Amino acid sequence: MTDDQLHCPRCGRPGSGYRGCQVCRAEGVFVNLALPLTDLAGFNLAIYPGGPWGHPASLPIGAGATPLSLGEGSTPTVRLRTHNGEAEIWVKNEAANPTWSHKDRAMSVAVARAAERGASTVIAASSGNAGAAAAAYAARAGLRCVVLTTTRIPPALHALIASLGAVLVAYDDRDSRHKMLDAAVDELGWAPVTFIDPAIGGTPFGNEGYKSIAYECAQQFGDDLAAIVVPTCRADLLSGLGRGYRELLEAGLVQRPGPRLIAVEAESGAALTAAWKLPTRAEQERVRVTRHDSSAFSIGNEYAHWHGLNELWASNGMAVAIEEDRYLAEYQRIARENGLFIEASSAVAIAAARDIADQTDGRVLAIATSSGMKDHNLAASLAGEIPVLSPDINLLADHVERVSTQTHGPASDDERDPQ
Ligand SMILES: [Zn+2]
Repeated sequence: MTDDQLHCPRCGRPGSGYRGCQVCRAEGVFVNLALPLTDLAGFNLAIYPGGPWGHPASLPIGAGATPLSLGEGSTPTVRLRTHNGEAEIWVKNEAANPTWSHKDRAMSVAVARAAERGASTVIAASSGNAGAAAAAYAARAGLRCVVLTTTRIPPALHALIASLGAVLVAYDDRDSRHKMLDAAVDELGWAPVTFIDPAIGGTPFGNEGYKSIAYECAQQFGDDLAAIVVPTCRADLLSGLGRGYRELLEAGLVQRPGPRLIAVEAESGAALTAAWKLPTRAEQERVRVTRHDSSAFSIGNEYAHWHGLNELWASNGMAVAIEEDRYLAEYQRIARENGLFIEASSAVAIAAARDIADQTDGRVLAIATSSGMKDHNLAASLAGEIPVLSPDINLLADHVERVSTQTHGPASDDERDPQ
C-alpha cells in the first residue's frame, strides 16, 4: 500500500501526507485521510491469533515484511461482577499490552512502516501512552525515537519512555510543540508516528493497527455485542474499530453491522458530546470546545474529529461525557470489585458502560485503554497515607475491619460471580 491510496472519507478526493484533506479544511472541517478498507477474503477468524500482526495483510506494510511485534493484542476480556438486576458488561483490558496500553497496536504498525520506508528517526507527540509505545517499538526496530511532550507528563510515563531509550523534550506551550513537530517532519525528515496536527488525528497508517480490536471482538462475541464504549481523544481508536467491523461485514465474517460505537469523553474536554447535541451534521463537524486539564489526561479534545463523528453516524452510536467525581469513583470501584487497575480515562468508559447497559438489550463492552500505573500519583493521593501501628493484634484487627468496611461497605448477600 502506498500514500497515493489515501483519500478523504468525507469528500472522496485523493490526498497525501498526515495533515488531512485540504479541501475539507478550507470548508472549516478537519478530516483525516484514510486508506481503502482491506479485503478480508480468506481471513479465518477461527484461527486468528489476534493482534495487528495476526493478519498482516490488513496492514499498510509490504508483503513479506518482518512483523514488528512485542506480543501486542489478544488482550483479555473480563466480565464485570454484577449485582442483581445489573446488565452484562465486559471490559477489554488493553492494559495487558506490552507497554500497558492500546497504543501498542498502532505504534507496532506505524514504526514498522517507518522502518520499511528507511526512516532512521521517528517522532511522536505525546504526554503518555503513545510516547511509551512509540519508544518501545522504535527500540525494537533499532530506530531513534524522539518524544515531544509537555511539562505535565506523569512521572511514571517520563520514566517509562526514557527507560526505553527515547529522547524526551518538553515545551511549555502547545504552539511551540506543534511548531517543532512540523519542522522536525518537514525540515529534518523524521517520520511521524502520532499526529502532526491535533485537529486531524493520528497517522492513517498506524491507525490501521486498531482494526485488530474489532477482529478480536468478532472472534470472541460474533454478532453478539450490542455496543462498544470507547474512551475518545482524537477518535483514532474509535475509527479503527468501525473500519475493522466494516471489513468483517464486507467479507461476511459478521452477519450484521457491528455494535453501536459509543464515544466517551471526560466532561473537561467533550467536543464529540457537544457536537452530538447539535441538530445537523454541518454544525456537528465544525464544533469547537475548550479543553481543560483533568485526571483523565489521555482523553478529551477541543475538536469533534470527523472520523469519529463518522463512526457514530454509521453505527447509530452516540457521544457521552462523564463528570470527574463519577469517573474517579469508578476508577476505585472497578479496581476493588474486579481487580482491574486501569487509568482514569478508562474508568470514564466503565462509568458510561453502566449507563449504556441499563438502556440496552444485550452485551456492552467497554475498552479499558491503559493501566492505572501510568498515573500512580492519582491512585496514591486517593489511597492516603499508610498508617504505622503499634505491634498490638487488637489494633491490627480493628484497623483492618474499619478500613475494609470503608472501602468495600458491609458484606452483601446479593452479589454473585459472573458466569
Ligand atoms: Zn475532503
